[in-house]
Amino acid sequence: MKCDVLVVGAGPAGCSAAAACGAAGLKTIVVERKPEIGVPITCSGAIGSYLLPYLPFKTPKNLLKHSIEGLEFIVDEVSYVRRGGPWSSYAIDRSAFDKWLSQRAVDSGADLIMSAEFIDATLDKSWSGGRAQIRKKDEIIEVDFKVMIGADGARSRVLETLGERVSDARMGQAVVYEYEGVTLESPELDQLYFGDFAPGGYAHIFPLSDNRANIGVGTIASDADLRQCFQDFIALPRVKAQLKDGRPVLEKSGTVSFEPLSRKRQYGSVLLAGEAASQNIKPLVEGFLPAIICGDVAGKT
Ligand SMILES: Cc1cc2nc3c(=O)[nH]c(=O)nc-3n(C[C@H](O)[C@H](O)[C@H](O)COP(=O)(O)OP(=O)(O)OC[C@H]3O[C@@H](n4cnc5c(N)ncnc54)[C@H](O)[C@@H]3O)c2cc1C
Repeated sequence: MKCDVLVVGAGPAGCSAAAACGAAGLKTIVVERKPEIGVPITCSGAIGSYLLPYLPFKTPKNLLKHSIEGLEFIVDEVSYVRRGGPWSSYAIDRSAFDKWLSQRAVDSGADLIMSAEFIDATLDKSWSGGRAQIRKKDEIIEVDFKVMIGADGARSRVLETLGERVSDARMGQAVVYEYEGVTLESPELDQLYFGDFAPGGYAHIFPLSDNRANIGVGTIASDADLRQCFQDFIALPRVKAQLKDGRPVLEKSGTVSFEPLSRKRQYGSVLLAGEAASQNIKPLVEGFLPAIICGDVAGKT
């Protein structure tokens, strides 16, 4: 197979990059190793309203599930609330949003190949293109590309093939569960908790509706027992009271890039976008909208 642009990964960064390339009339192939877009979800689904104007499209209202007025910061008994402006956000249905983004890429003319895993690539000596090996079922497909965009997330295989070391020791980990039937103190506020239960990170309750929320703990301490941290967090009296009648219905845990694995975003004809390029906003590692914005920039480049 031949293409102008090979995009690795059909997450928000990859789909956004592919949509930009497709719209520019470039022959674009996106390979995604999962069989279904947006499944499983590894995200707490909170997006800052302040970034919406920077997206390369107008966000359909039905993807913004729940409006959040502000943030409450909680340390022991001390609490501090900020509302409006940069503190307001939305809860999204991440799976539906990812599916919408992939459809947008396809509508722009990109070819999306599912259950197709990028394995390796050989770059031309002049770095002006290359050939990638893609595994689909038992078959290895070779794809010749002029440009490759690595949008394959925090544990980027593309970055590894460029000679960079991708190690969990430099990542952040988060244990997150979606709970239903919770009794939230304030469904219009995201709650951020800081303490020993989240060493080098924070815990959160992000409402999805009046009685549903994503609840999790994230840390950059690679030696932390995160499952235990989560148990310690939900045992806090204030958290326990809100979870009283709630039950976890879906796990959404995963890995985020905290310390950049590389300072470079471009290696000759290979560009990186999204988590693969550590393009999330620290220290909260908000990465969904930045991935869309940076993917678009990579595609337009
Ligand atoms: C637990 C958790 C909670 C989070 N909560 C929030 C939040 O509330 N708000 C927020 O803004 N951000 C949040 N983030 C961060 C956000 O999810 C990421 O920043 C965002 O998904 C980055 O998008 P991406 O496209 O770069 O990477 P991903 O979304 O990781 O997409 C990468 C894609 O590449 C595919 N892929 C990987 N390797 C290969 C390969 N070799 N071949 C083919 N395909 C491959 C993957 O299957 C995946 O579909 C959270 C992250 C985690 C882990």
